[in-house]
Amino acid sequence: MLGQMMNFPLTIGSLVDHAARYHGTTRIVSVNTVYGIESTTWASVNANAHRLGDALTNLGLRPQARCATIAWNNRRHLEIYFGVSGAGFICHTINPRLFPEQLIYIINHAEDEVMFIDKTFIPLVKAIRDKLTFVKYIVLMEGRDEESGNEINGLIYYDELISIGSPEKDWPDFDENTASSLCYTSGTTGNPKGVLFSHRSTVLHSFASNTRDCIGFSARDIVLPVVPMFHVNAWGSPYACAMVGAQIVLPGPRLDGASLVNLIEKYRVSIALGVPTIWRGLLTEARKLDTTLGSLKRTVVGGSACPPSMIAEFRDDFDVELIHAWGMTEMSPLGSSNQPLAKHFDLPISEQHALRENQGRPPWGVELKIVDPSGVELPKDGVTQGDLMVRGHWILERYFRQTREETLTDDWFHTGDVATLDNDGYLSIKDRSKDIIKSGGEWISSVDLENIAIAHPSLEDAAVIGVHHEKWDERPILVAVPAEKHSPSESDVLTIFDGKVTKWHIPDKVVFTDLLPRNATGKVLKRNLRETYCNILID
Ligand code: ADP
Repeated sequence: MLGQMMNFPLTIGSLVDHAARYHGTTRIVSVNTVYGIESTTWASVNANAHRLGDALTNLGLRPQARCATIAWNNRRHLEIYFGVSGAGFICHTINPRLFPEQLIYIINHAEDEVMFIDKTFIPLVKAIRDKLTFVKYIVLMEGRDEESGNEINGLIYYDELISIGSPEKDWPDFDENTASSLCYTSGTTGNPKGVLFSHRSTVLHSFASNTRDCIGFSARDIVLPVVPMFHVNAWGSPYACAMVGAQIVLPGPRLDGASLVNLIEKYRVSIALGVPTIWRGLLTEARKLDTTLGSLKRTVVGGSACPPSMIAEFRDDFDVELIHAWGMTEMSPLGSSNQPLAKHFDLPISEQHALRENQGRPPWGVELKIVDPSGVELPKDGVTQGDLMVRGHWILERYFRQTREETLTDDWFHTGDVATLDNDGYLSIKDRSKDIIKSGGEWISSVDLENIAIAHPSLEDAAVIGVHHEKWDERPILVAVPAEKHSPSESDVLTIFDGKVTKWHIPDKVVFTDLLPRNATGKVLKRNLRETYCNILID
């Protein structure tokens, strides 16, 4: 051998060890479920994570045993992330907004043996407990609490559990390809599917998140992950923050605009992450309170398309840079993020702003292509639309308990999104392939129409769907939620589109509603809307 570098496995435990070693006094703020706000440090989080890993090992769990969490973003949840995975078990985060049948399916399918739950979810767990086949231990994420103990037989208390573990206990050695965490996709059709992340994929995903052209967390940042820790691991932010020793503010159960404005102001948050609907509430509240959100420099928005009007609002009214990102559970989730290139700074400012609207470029580690229905690659010209395919270091190879062949198409993961790509790699998501509107053989992007509608002050929310049409097969209609104190007419709303899109893209009809149906991760349930309105142009 001519020479060699050292070789350490890329593990999640090493991230929190690093945070404790070099950023031990850096603050972690946690809005707890029961006792209000608590301030702790990376050193303490790490010590408790080691205690927990040791305690779980002492319970006799085998390596790779699944430990579920049903919990808000808080300090104990953070410790569980690192303690469970660090000790060689699998941290399975569960979305509490799923229906009870889906919860039972997921918990049994994963064969969860331990469940960590926040007090909020005692009734939920009590109601399904008899149907959970493999669960041996239910751990309340609190100290001793007799009231909860009376609800669930044999309840264990987190603070007591970790007190029997040692903070000195090292993580066990294992291969970096060992599974670390598990997350089920929302499953709008069929049963939810499990995505199993590895230590290696998680660490590489964190490196990519922390590059300047992606999110770029740093030790200078105070990070507010509003995106739940049960939603693709809060987009991987706890791991990426540990890697650089960033401060974190964990917002707990209340994600309304007023609570978020309060946290941002009180703890001088510099970067926040969340889905567009959450930021709508924040912006409305910030205006009401007449606050400038002075400390906030950047916000990362993804999960569904961010309307350009929101990007402009953050920029022009609050001096906040909005980073539009795209991804999915199967991608850990980061697939692309919108940041400018050096050459863009020579362009007129309006063009620079327009370039920030799409879903951005993939970081190293992710490759994207668009294909036609027979799998032939389509040009990256920024115009041609095709099915978006992806591969890379943190992209799913096979769903939990499925084969590679069942999961991949020609060695690529089929995202189910329809998109354009340009020569610089900028991605523009046009639709989910099942939502795109096919009018007379031509495609109409519902996302483009929604972006225009939502920008209008008389509308609070909007969704565009394709419905049956005798001549054109499908035509778009707009399902709109009027803004508070507004009652626009159908023709008022349709004029919003004049001059902004080709005439035949304009929806044929507007129906007004009070609220759009959304799934557990906040996405509009277009299938439900289609069921309701499919024949509205025929009747
Ligand atoms: P997540 O759990 O992160 O929401 P899901 O796996 O539930 O991920 O959903 C992923 C899908 O969400 C993507 O395939 C895409 O359709 C949609 N999506 C995510 N981010 C964006 C975005 N920035 N713009 C448009 N669609 C998005």
